[in-house]
Amino acid sequence: MPRENDSGFLAAVWHGASDVRLERRQRRPLRSGEVRIAVSYCGICGSDLHEYSNGPHAIPIGKPHRVSGEAAPLVIGHEFSGAVTEAATGVGIAVGTRVAVEPEYRCGSCAACRRGEYNLCVAMGFAGLMGSGGMSEEAVVPAYMLHPLPDSVTDRQAAVLEPAAVALHALRRGRVRAGDTVAVAGAGPIGLLIAQLARIAGARRVVVSDVSETRLAMALDLGATEILNAAGQDLAAVAAGVDVAFEAVGIQSTLDAALASVRKGGRVVFVGLCNGPISLDGFDIVNRELELIASVGYRDIYPDLIGMIASGLFDPSRIVTREIPLANAVTDGLERLRTQSGDVKILINPSAKGDLS
Ligand SMILES: [Zn+2]
Ligand SMILES: [Zn+2]
Repeated sequence: MPRENDSGFLAAVWHGASDVRLERRQRRPLRSGEVRIAVSYCGICGSDLHEYSNGPHAIPIGKPHRVSGEAAPLVIGHEFSGAVTEAATGVGIAVGTRVAVEPEYRCGSCAACRRGEYNLCVAMGFAGLMGSGGMSEEAVVPAYMLHPLPDSVTDRQAAVLEPAAVALHALRRGRVRAGDTVAVAGAGPIGLLIAQLARIAGARRVVVSDVSETRLAMALDLGATEILNAAGQDLAAVAAGVDVAFEAVGIQSTLDAALASVRKGGRVVFVGLCNGPISLDGFDIVNRELELIASVGYRDIYPDLIGMIASGLFDPSRIVTREIPLANAVTDGLERLRTQSGDVKILINPSAKGDLS
C-alpha cells in the first residue's frame, strides 16, 4: 500500500458485477460549487447490493451522467455523513462543519426542478450510483447536497438519514395521518423505517410482514403493532383492510399482498424497485377504487428529519446491525449481505482499522 502521507485516499470502487475494489484514488481539484468532505460513516444500501450482485442497473457505463459527468468505474455509496475539509471559492460553508449528504443530483433548470420537485429532475441521479459517492475516506459533492448537523445529531444517525428520507417521503406520498391503519410488505431497511415513522406520525395500527424473523423482531421493537411471517401467514388476512399499504420489496408477491391488504378506497404506495414489469388486476383496482401511488427518492425531507432526530423523537440508527472498517467493505459488507440474511443496515467506518489497513 502507498505510504500514509500519500495524497491518495482509500475508496470502494465499482468496476462491474461482483467487482468492487478497495483502491487508493488521487484527490482531484474542486470544481465550482463543490465541497470535499472527510466521510464519517457510509451505509450499504440494497441498491449498492444490486449493483454489486448483478449490476449495472443505475451506474453509467461509457456515457457519463449528465450532472456528475462520471461513468464507471466510480466510488459507490450514497448514504453518508462527514465533515467539510475544503470548499470551492464562494461556497458558504466552513471547514469542519459536520454534514449529512442528501445525495440526489439535480440540474436546477428543468421543469421539475423549477417546480421544486428535484427528485423528479430529468437528470435525477445519486452520488454513489451515477457519480462518485461516499464508500470512501473522502468524497467530493455539490454543496447543495449538504445539510449541516446540530451537535445533538450523531454522525452515525446522519448516515442513516438517506434511507429514512426515502421512508418519510413515501409516508408523505401515502398521506399517512394520525389514527390511520397501515400495512408494510417487506421489513428491509426502508420497510422498517416506514413502520417506525408511521408510528411516530400517529398511525394507530402498523402491520409488518416479512420472511425473516430477525427483521420482524426489529419491526416490533421499532413500534409495529403486529408482525407476521409471510412464509406462513397472509398479510391481507391480518391487515384486514388498512387505509394505506406500502410495498417495500419490489416483487410480485409483496405487491399482491399490499394490494390485497387495503380497504376499498385505500392507498397503495410503491416504494420497492421492481426488476421489470409486474402484473396488476385492473378490474379489482377500479372496483375497489384504489389509489396507486409511486414514491421515488425524496425532496425537502432532510431538514425535517434532522429536527426530529435532534428533538429525540426519532432515531434512524436503531436499524444498524453492524459497523465495519472501509477496508472490509466487500468481505464483511457486500458479500455478507449477499450471502447471509442476519443484517439490516451495515455502516462503514472509514477511520476504523481493517484487514488492508
Ligand atoms: Zn439508499
Ligand atoms: Zn432538473
